[in-house]
Amino acid sequence: MSSFFRDIIRGDNHTREQIETMLSSNGEEKKMLFKAASEIKERYVGKKVYYRGLIEFSNVCGKNCLYCGIRRGNRNLERYNLTDDEIVEAALFAYRNDYGSIALQSGEIESDTFADRVEGLLKRVMEATDNSLGITISLGEQEPAVYRRWREAGARRYLLRIEASDPSLYKRLHPDDGHHLFKRRVESLNTLKELDYQTGTGVMIGLPWQKISHLANDIIFMRDMDIDMCGMGPYIEHADTPLIDETTSLMPLPDRFDLTLKMIAVLRIVMKDINIAAATALQAIDPVGREKGIMVGANIVMPNITPGKYRDSYKLYDNKPCTDDSAEDCKMCLEARLGITNAEIGYGEWGDSLHYKRRKEAIGG
Ligand code: SAM
Ligand code: SF4
Repeated sequence: MSSFFRDIIRGDNHTREQIETMLSSNGEEKKMLFKAASEIKERYVGKKVYYRGLIEFSNVCGKNCLYCGIRRGNRNLERYNLTDDEIVEAALFAYRNDYGSIALQSGEIESDTFADRVEGLLKRVMEATDNSLGITISLGEQEPAVYRRWREAGARRYLLRIEASDPSLYKRLHPDDGHHLFKRRVESLNTLKELDYQTGTGVMIGLPWQKISHLANDIIFMRDMDIDMCGMGPYIEHADTPLIDETTSLMPLPDRFDLTLKMIAVLRIVMKDINIAAATALQAIDPVGREKGIMVGANIVMPNITPGKYRDSYKLYDNKPCTDDSAEDCKMCLEARLGITNAEIGYGEWGDSLHYKRRKEAIGG
């Protein structure tokens, strides 16, 4: 077994070349990588897995990202918008079942009406659940004043994936219409940090035109940004998107899956105390994909608690799993599945990012 590779894993302040070496590992070296990531996770953030009950409350989106099934330009789907009562009811399901946290996600809408609605909703959810749920939101790019209002209304974490940290790759994945700007995405992440959100980002893995060097730079981007949380998963095609034309140039799904596991493991080695989610998209490729993510460094799962009748319409990519299930089905199923990972479930706990806590302590906050 290569002691050179072992030294890289044990090292600190990894260079881009070292990160590429880890991402390119196979055979015994890959096993070593996964084992090291799992040990680091246990040492730095513990054995527990924390839940974020995911409420995908609307698939209405003002944007047109070229990879996404709910992009504005896709007319082949029914648009839905949960009522406020339905959202509060879903949050109550998380509360009653001791999930500890919820995540509210939707298409990106920038309007006063939307900003007011989310602010009101956050307040209602907080009140209905005795201020006891940790709330993550993932609602795209917004003005700083809107982020501030939502933070004050009760959201503690924000997930905004950079999608691809290379500005030219980002440009190829988004329409050139002045509404999909890399610069604004980075500025939004900085604003979220300034506003004291636990800030999360992430990328898709296996995108058209993406190389290993891009992914190594994505890891460095996240380290430089000093993020608190990460959610990243494989890119999966959707037939009704412009990127479907690039399918023949993609690596096969099992390879995208494998590379995603390596990205999780490497990120855990590089950023030891952050929260890392095992994305649902992993399960679209492998029936125990999320569990495999947990075993190589992830410590967050997002059980879907969106009312079942709407799930089929939040299809970001083809073969999205569990669209026929209810929140109750997901609970039973996930508990059984996580049993195989040797992880404990942090029922009733927020499972905040330890990295965020340390970051705050370092600045005397
Ligand atoms: N609209 C918000 C935003 O874009 O930040 C939040 C919801 S958006 C649907 C959540 C994530 O879905 C995106 O950040 C993107 O990474 C992921 N996604 C979209 N299309 C995908 C695809 N075809 N394969 C895998 N993930 C996809
Ligand atoms: Fe809209 Fe988000 Fe999909 Fe882009 S990724 S089209 S912003 S839902």
